[in-house]
Amino acid sequence: MTYHHHWTSGLAIDLPEGKVVCVGRNYADHARELGNEVPSEPLLFMKPATALVPLEQPLKLPADRGEIHHELEIAALIGRPLKNANSEAARAAIYGIGLALDLTLRELQNELKQGGLPWEKAKAFDGSCPLSPFIETGAAGELDALELELVINGTPRQRGSSAQMLFTIPELIADISRHFSLRPGDVVLTGTPAGVGPLQDGDELAMRLGDMLRVETSVKLD
Ligand code: ZN
Repeated sequence: MTYHHHWTSGLAIDLPEGKVVCVGRNYADHARELGNEVPSEPLLFMKPATALVPLEQPLKLPADRGEIHHELEIAALIGRPLKNANSEAARAAIYGIGLALDLTLRELQNELKQGGLPWEKAKAFDGSCPLSPFIETGAAGELDALELELVINGTPRQRGSSAQMLFTIPELIADISRHFSLRPGDVVLTGTPAGVGPLQDGDELAMRLGDMLRVETSVKLD
């Protein structure tokens, strides 16, 4: 079994890697940039544990499957079982906060969307969820004022704050728990702000969550 890790100590957390539940279009500016309507309830999809790789190690990605878009997202690590939870219980169940990339085969996703087909081939492939270690929730600051930023080759590409989310992190987790039981070690990705775009071979990525967590990585397409 593979375990999640703590940001400051680098030690393993007693929570095994599980499924990843993701939300689409949780920032209105990103929904608009892809020409999507702003949803009235969260749009959910999943990635299996086999999608997880460490964010801080070079990202090895397929070169032959069309554009792979970066979507920088705040990740919440679930510490307690949740089913049909309210927002308060959802908030209390968050063990820690980190960063993730929801990597997306955008051309394939567009084809699948147009065909009314499921998104998994475009969203849930091996390595599609690079994930950072986690800061414990108490130390991460207010959940509704977390800033995230992605800089590629020195140029800022994505910047946002959880204050801009259509559904707050606890609201989102509560909604998810009404559809899918969450287990300790599962991760929730909370949506991406505007600025998504294709990764290129050799790109250098620098990401931060507020001033607390900074991760650098690079891209290797082959
Ligand atoms: Zn996403």
